[in-house]
This record gives sequence, structure tokens and C-alpha cells, in this order.
Amino acid sequence: MKNLKEYISEAREKGVAIGHFNISNIEGLHAVFNAAKSLGVPVIIGVSEGERDFVGVHEAVALVKAIRAENNDYPVFLNADHTYSLGRVKEAIDVGFDAVIFDGAKLPIDENIQITKQCVEYAREKNLEVLVEGELGYIGQSSKLLSEIPKGVELTSVEDAKKFVGETGVDLFAPAVGNIHGMLKDMPEPRLNIERIKEITEATNVPLVLHGASGNTKEDIQAAIKAGIVIVHINTEVRVAYRDALRKSLADNPDEVAPYKLNKPDVEAMEKVVKEKLRIFNFI
Ligand SMILES: [Zn+2]
Repeated sequence: MKNLKEYISEAREKGVAIGHFNISNIEGLHAVFNAAKSLGVPVIIGVSEGERDFVGVHEAVALVKAIRAENNDYPVFLNADHTYSLGRVKEAIDVGFDAVIFDGAKLPIDENIQITKQCVEYAREKNLEVLVEGELGYIGQSSKLLSEIPKGVELTSVEDAKKFVGETGVDLFAPAVGNIHGMLKDMPEPRLNIERIKEITEATNVPLVLHGASGNTKEDIQAAIKAGIVIVHINTEVRVAYRDALRKSLADNPDEVAPYKLNKPDVEAMEKVVKEKLRIFNFI
């Protein structure tokens, strides 16, 4: 089986992006996998620290491995999304995640570089295949519906990006390029800065990751991919689909108590969102 790094290189050559979707439960996992498999494209399952605590780190690894094994080594990978300490980065590497993100975007750049570098060193020492992603530039922290743009949102400068990638040796880099975590409730998302993505790609030559793409338009996302984005993260839109479908299912079936029946519509609703996004990222 090709590893995640090889799938990323392949996506880069083809000018497409790999979708990254967060999950909190088995419903989400099945929804993401079903959607990817129906289109025949690789996919990344993300679990943030909170999601990881709810699912269990060992459980997350075992579930993804089981799906791969049952489906002829299907390219479904597991990422430790937004990890805020070296200790938790080490934990994810030790239990067998395919990739891990150290998120020091809120720290001063030098401290961010220092810890990210330690994460890369640990990864190289333990497992040559695990990928480490670094983040520079604050884009907010929560995957929910927002009434305003998070305070302190930045745009990553080309010089800082170059310094960060050069000094840390990260495999993947997530800049702030007009994207925000979460999704604005009553107004359109800010536009992505395509020019900045291009400049950062040229200056760093590492695959770039777009976080917080929920709410961004198809046009913006596809232009970002053409400019150097190779992984696109979606969480909020999937969460909203889950919440709405589950709420309706509970209201429509007041006497039903079987979770596997009540949750069927939310799996389908999440799958639909994931599939639409994968079509955009893969230009299909
Ligand atoms: Zn993110």
C-alpha cells in the first residue's frame, strides 16, 4: 500500500486535493469512508484533541486500520488534528497515526518553531512514514457556527512561512490565507487569498493544507488547490449536517429507541456533504 506521503505527491502532480474530515463517532467514520469509496479517492480522517478523547486514540487507530484491511488496503488515513502539546504529538505518533499537526499558531513564532521542530525530530526518530504538519497564523479555534470573524485572525507572511518551514522541516504546512475555523452564520465567508497561497507555495515548496474550508465557495477552494493547497479540511459543515439530520430523526420517530435506526439518516446526511466536497477537491 502506498503511504500518505505518496498519495499527497500524487495529488500534487494531478492538481487535486485530498479531503480531510473530522469525526467524533462511528457514524462519522462510516460516512466519510462511504463517500470516499463511492468516488474512489483517498481520504484523511481527522480527530482533534477533543474528538480523540471522545473516540479514544487507540480506538481511532484500530478503526481506521480495520477499514483499510477490510477494503483491500483502501487509502484511508488518520490524522491527529490540532494538537497543542509535544506530549500529545508523541502520543499520536506512538499509537500509529499517519500524520499529526502541532498547532502553535497562537504562540510567538519562535516558540512555535521550537516546539514544531521537536515534533518533527520525534517523528523522524520513531517512524519514518508519519507526517508532521505545522501551523503559522491564527485562524480561530472552533469548528462551529459563528456570528462574527474570530478575533486576532491573521494572514501568514511569505517571509515567516519560509523561515518556519526551513527551520522546522515540517512535511506539511498550514498557513493563514483568509481561511477561518468554523463557519459564519449569517454572512459569507471571507475570500481566500489565492495570491498569498501561490507565493507561499513558491517560497516553501511543501504541500500546503487549507484549514477551516467549511463555508468557502467551490471557486475559491478550487483556485486555492491550483495555487498549491494539497489537503483541504472540512469539519463544521459535516457537524451541522449531523446535528440537523439527528434532530429531525428524533422528532420524526418519538417512539424509536434503537440508535442504529435513529442514526441512519445522520450517516447519510454527512456522507452527502463529504461526497460533494470530495467532488470539488478532486474536480469530478
Ligand atoms: Zn483546522
